[in-house]
This record gives sequence, structure tokens and C-alpha cells, in this order.
Amino acid sequence: MTPSPTSDGEVPLRVEWLEDCGPRGAGLFFCTMTTPVTWPHGARCAIMMTFDLDGESPWIQRDPALADRYLHMSMGSYGPKTGMPRILDVLDRYDIKTCIFIPGWIVERYPALCEEIVKRGHEVGQHGYLHERPSSLKSREEEEELLVKSLGIFKKILGVTPLGSRSPSADPSKHTMELLKKHGFVYHSNALDTDLPYCIDTPLGPLVEFPTAWCNNDAPFFLFSSAPPVGNGIWSQQDVWEIWSEEFEGMYEEGGFYNWLGHPQVIGRPSRMRMVERLIQRILGKKDVWWPKPIDLARFWLEKSRAGAAR
Ligand SMILES: [Zn+2]
Repeated sequence: MTPSPTSDGEVPLRVEWLEDCGPRGAGLFFCTMTTPVTWPHGARCAIMMTFDLDGESPWIQRDPALADRYLHMSMGSYGPKTGMPRILDVLDRYDIKTCIFIPGWIVERYPALCEEIVKRGHEVGQHGYLHERPSSLKSREEEEELLVKSLGIFKKILGVTPLGSRSPSADPSKHTMELLKKHGFVYHSNALDTDLPYCIDTPLGPLVEFPTAWCNNDAPFFLFSSAPPVGNGIWSQQDVWEIWSEEFEGMYEEGGFYNWLGHPQVIGRPSRMRMVERLIQRILGKKDVWWPKPIDLARFWLEKSRAGAAR
């Protein structure tokens, strides 16, 4: 995963932080690509490919009565039971270590799988307790209570403390970033506003944000349920390959950051994982990409921020 240094080192990417641009209330900063980003080892593009192991939790969160419906529980459990083991094997084949974001309830329900994820060298990230959407919680106290509850489960069952977080349903609250910083998190990954990572200024210090995009997410293309109706139909993986591979090629060309995310119950099917494997091969075929664990990418960005080269 470590690319060879290139002769010129720098990549033709430009980043400029516009301090007086955009709303500041949420502590967000905005950037455009106007000054160079130099990734480690002279890499041209940094890569992040993570998974949200939701399992049955979004269905129960949507309607507790669905916990008694075999249809919904079996759709959700395809992720932990079948998709995730297949994904772990594909990641192992390429020696990729990443972060799997997991609701605390799923850690309790599937402890052996979660232990296996840790054993294989991956990070585990926070993703709510039962996939609660932070923006819909009634108070900061309720959100903190759920966060502390989940952290306790990770510690008790897996012996680890997550350093990364992804808000369920990509919908953090106005309290989320400060609470994450308070409880020792280093990064969060949900925002949709930039291509590059950036730092969110919280009253307790910076939290790295790894922005995502709906087009680099499997759910809009493959998530499907007939009752209740969910999703946009089932897409051909060949059409999605065109979107994902071109998104990567574009980011690589500009010298940026490619951040892809999947859900094991959605992307874990054999046909889709064959396509994801082709994507991995396409990325690794470039040689000068940097594909670290997300926590290492976050620490790199924090260091860069402290040095004044980025925020
Ligand atoms: Zn989720």
C-alpha cells in the first residue's frame, strides 16, 4: 500500500482556505483546490474505502415493529452474516486495513464478527447505538448518553475505543462534532461539501472531517426494499463501475482524495464485490496512491493543519 516516491514529489493540486466564506456557525471552513497538497511518499491521491455495518439496526430504528418481521431482519442481517465476511476476505487479498463503522447494538449482537474485524487489523468506528439519526435526538444530553453507551460496548466487548465516527443516516446534529471531540475522537466522515479532508473547529479543538459523496456510496444504486419501498431500483454494477472508476480517475488526475463507502448488506453480494475488487485493482494499479488506515490519514491531516499548510 506504500507507493514509491515520485521524482517531482508534489502533485498539481491547489488548496486555499476561504476564511470569510460561507456560514461559520457550525465551525466549518470551506476550501477550494488552489494550493498544493503533498501526500506522504509523494503520492498523487489519498484513498479511503470504509464500510458501515448497519445490519438490522436501521429497520428497527425506522419502526420497532419491524424487529418481528423476518423480511426486514433477514435483509439487514445479510450484512453481518454474509456480506462482511466476503468483504473481509477481499480486503485481506489486497492487504487493505480500513475502518468499519458499527452501531453499538450490532457489536452486542455479533460480537464474534466484530472481534474478527479487529483481529484482522481494521479500525472499528462509532455509528450510533441503534442507528439513531443525531439530528433527530431531542437533546445534547440524549446524544451524549448514546455515545457513551456505545463507547462502553466497544470497550467491554472488543477492548477498543473508536477514534472515528460516521453519523447514522449522514445526519449529525449541531452538538455532534463537539461531543465527538470531547470523547476523544479524531475524525468524522459524513460532510458533502468538499473533495478534500478538512478540520472542523470545535470549542475543544479540531476534528478531522473526511467528506463523502452520494455518488461514491453504494446505497443510492443498490439499496432496495419493496415494502416499505426504499431505494432507486437495482442498478447494473457495470453502470456503477463507470461512475466509481471515473470518480476515482478524476480525483487521481487532480491529485485529491477518493473517499468511497459501502454497506455490507448492500455491496456484499458476489456480483457487486467483483466490481469493487476491480475498483481496488484499478486504484492499486496506479502505484502512486496512498491508502493508509483512516486514523493515519486523519493524523496526517491534523499534523498538516498544525503546520499551517491546511486546516
Ligand atoms: Zn448506517
